[in-house]
Amino acid sequence: MKEALLYEKLDNRKVKCNLCAHHCKIAPGKWGICNVRENINGTLQTHVYGRTIARHVDPIEKKPLYHFYPGSKAFSIGTAGCNFHCDFCQNCAISQVTSPGILELGSTSSPAEIVQEALDAGCRSIAYTYTEPTIFFEYCNDIGPLAREAGLKNVFVSNGFMTSEMLDISSPWLDAVNVDLKAYQDETYRRLMGGRLHPVLESMKHIVNKGIWLEVTSLIIPGINDSQGELRQMAHFIANELGVDVPWHISRFFPGYKMEDVSPTSLDTLQKAKEAGEEAGLNYIYIGNVPASADQNTLCPSCLDTLIERYGYQVVANNITNGQCPQCGYRISVVG
Ligand code: SF4
Ligand code: SF4
Repeated sequence: MKEALLYEKLDNRKVKCNLCAHHCKIAPGKWGICNVRENINGTLQTHVYGRTIARHVDPIEKKPLYHFYPGSKAFSIGTAGCNFHCDFCQNCAISQVTSPGILELGSTSSPAEIVQEALDAGCRSIAYTYTEPTIFFEYCNDIGPLAREAGLKNVFVSNGFMTSEMLDISSPWLDAVNVDLKAYQDETYRRLMGGRLHPVLESMKHIVNKGIWLEVTSLIIPGINDSQGELRQMAHFIANELGVDVPWHISRFFPGYKMEDVSPTSLDTLQKAKEAGEEAGLNYIYIGNVPASADQNTLCPSCLDTLIERYGYQVVANNITNGQCPQCGYRISVVG
């Protein structure tokens, strides 16, 4: 256990957590919505500091981040718990803390040990992922600066529901974020995820304004967020509010967790989403969860030459030269 960051003490030993947009007000002996933060006698404590429940070396493309050190390895860690409860969560066994026993699973490491493990594995970055980095922020905030000192980058894979205060504290050491834009209807966020849309949109704008590299992922679920109107709204938000160079990853849904009865996204729908992105003027649109798709490659937005060729999560070829297309000289938005 460790005392939490970003909380206020209220009357009667209640506390208010300001780490995410839920802003839970928690009475003594009670827990926040994420089920990892507990008010113990008027002090907010996190139960997930220093204990990872998942830890792997992944290609950075798996996050997905396609324009951030392409072809590099990311040391990926996550703790138990999440501030959302998505009906389609692929990591529900570790994201949903349904019993306190889950908080005892996994293995413990100090921040310095995590950094050393990442270096030993030849990684370029540490990715805080699998569940939601916001709810293990205290751990990230101790690892991040050490990672920076050791020459590593830090990336979040997030639902974007953190507060701007949390992003402000992270910005000295946070290099890139992939945010899930899961829908463009507030009602969908409330019903299927236990969240809200507006804070997610604001977080993405804040990330861009802070100069942190951003990529956006949208899992397209049949009957939930796949209408032409909603696909256009998502694409236009990214283009108009975040910038046409922000990559948009359109991801194919497969049945799972509480949505076993929903069909996989059709390839036709994924193409319609891509068209919505093109119509909005986005320069980099990718289709994920479709093996061997040509829509995983990075094309030059000007001459359409293939610049980065991918097969699955592997970079097969990277022709970007000094940040430019070797054919026409167009400057490509890529980090590293
Ligand atoms: S991090 Fe957890 S306790 Fe804090 S506001 Fe979010 S859900 Fe509530
Ligand atoms: S935000 Fe991600 S980890 Fe959390 S419940 Fe939703 S899909 Fe799972």
